[in-house]
Amino acid sequence: MRFVPLTAALLLLLACRHTQPAYGYSEDAETCPIHHTALVDARVPLFYGLPSDNDIRYSVTAQRLFPYGRTYALGGCNLGKEEWVVVKQCSVCVRVGAAWRKKYLVEAAR
Ligand SMILES: [Zn+2]
Repeated sequence: MRFVPLTAALLLLLACRHTQPAYGYSEDAETCPIHHTALVDARVPLFYGLPSDNDIRYSVTAQRLFPYGRTYALGGCNLGKEEWVVVKQCSVCVRVGAAWRKKYLVEAAR
């Protein structure tokens, strides 16, 4: 049963692949490819461990709808010393991502 959400996320990714392009995230970008706003550097918390189902769903959707809306970053499975990281943010992506998270995700710890 643990793989059902991941499978659903992968199916969603495949289903959406043909409807909207995935923009992804690039450290080299200066403007948001969707909202055409200037990106700013933002310091966000870094979380370690396996991504939750909500993290996966959010990431898949973010690639299409709010690629620069990250308000936290995933540091991988091995615990590191860093607790914060600087990411590129678009103010509109942050608002859209927060609204999407509130509407579609059942929040756990984040
Ligand atoms: Zn944006």
